[in-house]
Amino acid sequence: MPTHADPVGIKALDRAGLAALVAGLGEPKYRALQIERWLYGRAARTYEEMTDLPAGLRDTLASRLALPFPDIITRQESADGTRKYLLRLADGASVETVGLPSGDRLTVCFSTQVGCAMGCAFCATGIGGLIRDLGPGEMVDQVSLVAEDFGMRVTNVVAMGQGEPFANYSAVLGALRFVNAAEGRGVGARHVTISTCGLTAGIRRISAEPEQFTLAISLHSAVQSTRDRLMPGVRAISLSALRDSLAEYAAATGRRPSLEFALIADVNDTDTELAALVSFCRGLLVHVNLIPMNPVDDAGFVRSPAKRIEVFERALRSAGIEVSTRTERGGDIDAACGQLRQRVSDSSTQ
Ligand code: SAH
Ligand code: SF4
Repeated sequence: MPTHADPVGIKALDRAGLAALVAGLGEPKYRALQIERWLYGRAARTYEEMTDLPAGLRDTLASRLALPFPDIITRQESADGTRKYLLRLADGASVETVGLPSGDRLTVCFSTQVGCAMGCAFCATGIGGLIRDLGPGEMVDQVSLVAEDFGMRVTNVVAMGQGEPFANYSAVLGALRFVNAAEGRGVGARHVTISTCGLTAGIRRISAEPEQFTLAISLHSAVQSTRDRLMPGVRAISLSALRDSLAEYAAATGRRPSLEFALIADVNDTDTELAALVSFCRGLLVHVNLIPMNPVDDAGFVRSPAKRIEVFERALRSAGIEVSTRTERGGDIDAACGQLRQRVSDSSTQ
């Protein structure tokens, strides 16, 4: 097997990249779709498996571009069936992926970056900083790996693992197109959700894309000073600028994004916070998703009591705002964002 300078190889390419690769080799256009089917419909591990490609083309591809697939470092299964994986990528970096089964549905939560630059105070990923962006194929591979492990078709996909999707916009869109394509994983666009900490440029960009992907915004506070403290990476984007971009998104797409709100005792669960949240949502096409915060080592935050979450839910509902409380899944296996990676690296440095 040849060794390649770039270990991510063909997994760094999106659909346009595969098309350019094939054109550059003087091959007909349909070869790009054949390669896509092998890489993302069937999760091929080698070029030799791609039996409908001419042998010469397979050899050329193998000599030019690495074809990596992640290894499972650890795999934990929760009592509720949720499986959480720590995966090793071609360059040795690690990311987390979660598979959540529910009847005949299987949702995959995948990572978009190794680490994250946003530094959210309650997030285990944010605490470690950004290491690198993932390539499109490295994101789709997480979905394929979970499908294989469960022996089930993936029905829903969420970009809610480690990383900020809109800080790696093109690669994430490239991945979602492979996830959506019939040649790839064949998951309907409406069953694909992107979660962002609120990068308004990305919100504007996604509203102009042809696919009807679903959007989730991590709000966590509608009080500027609280949000600045909890989410320092988006300090430069004011709540009013964020609100404007959501109004534009609704006007352009007619779709309802969800606002994620993880309740932290005495930080963002006070009456002042609730009043600010209600006024932020009034007149906006949104759905509020209340989440009991997952405790993270060293962050010093405590989850709000269930009663307080109920107060928020009732108040939002009576103000005419669509709301639900997310039931916690996989809590016994550190399934909160970034926690597994943190545990493993903590224990390996001790
Ligand atoms: N960077 C993106 C997507 C990844 S984070 C974003 O921030 O939206 C996925 C979700 O997990 C976000 O809503 C994030 O705010 C939330 N999250 C992170 N740490 C959490 C914790 N300790 N408890 C509950 N939710 C958390
Ligand atoms: Fe990054 Fe999202 Fe974690 Fe914030 S919550 S640090 S944006 S992964």
